[in-house]
Amino acid sequence: MKETNLKMQTHAKNWIIEIIDYDESMGDGIEKEKEFNDGKDITNYITRLEYKRNQRRLQALKMRGQTFRTINNNPSSNHFVGNHRATTSQNITKFIIRARANTQMTGEIKDKREDEPKNPCKLCGYQNESLMHILNGCQSRKHKYTERHNLIEGILVEEIRKAQQQNKPIIFRNSTIRVNGEKLDGEESRLKPDIWYIKDNKLFIIEITIPYGQYTEDNQNTLEIRTEEKKAKYNNLVIRCQEKWAIETHLITIVASSLGVLTKESIQNVHLLTGYKGRR
Ligand SMILES: [Zn+2]
Repeated sequence: MKETNLKMQTHAKNWIIEIIDYDESMGDGIEKEKEFNDGKDITNYITRLEYKRNQRRLQALKMRGQTFRTINNNPSSNHFVGNHRATTSQNITKFIIRARANTQMTGEIKDKREDEPKNPCKLCGYQNESLMHILNGCQSRKHKYTERHNLIEGILVEEIRKAQQQNKPIIFRNSTIRVNGEKLDGEESRLKPDIWYIKDNKLFIIEITIPYGQYTEDNQNTLEIRTEEKKAKYNNLVIRCQEKWAIETHLITIVASSLGVLTKESIQNVHLLTGYKGRR
């Protein structure tokens, strides 16, 4: 418990302890009274408190901590770290850890070390070669982003197929919706969802997006922004399908950041689509 600002005052018997979690970086301390059964209980409590405190400090860092805010309380997005059963290659694990902490040697990091910006993107010449630019924003890497999107889409399709025991549906990818050979009319008829299929007289429309996960200046999670954008884009399509074919229609969004963070809603959606229950 060295280097901690945690103050504990034993007031009374029976392990009722007043705890002042005094974290200078976060302003005022939190005071509360808690009852503990034994010393181990207290140690566990303090460990958790320290963990949360370090997490807050990390997330408050402008350059290094932004990605960690998107992972908050999301253990599925870290399952490969320190998990001997994970099949993720060590190189990818290393890369993701470095990238999430934004310590990869990008042009942006070099520019911060040197006085003037002189490390533009090596592929397209864009002046700020940030990690976000490399992973999501570079015009010269668009084909790679499409490939990444399609790979994820392919894995999901495969898992959806595996989950279907009987009445296996035909799964369509990147195509307009047709039911009994009939198309929709109007603007929505042109939309091509990433995946769609009909199962048990229900239409499932699935859209996948792989944005860069971070918080904007006005404190919004980009993963949530992109989810809402997808829903807005496909909302009318859902309504039109329901109207035209009187079919129960579900829009399912899968939003995974380019550093492997899935939103909670996306995790639930993957479980729903693949019938996955718990860790394998
Ligand atoms: Zn570029």
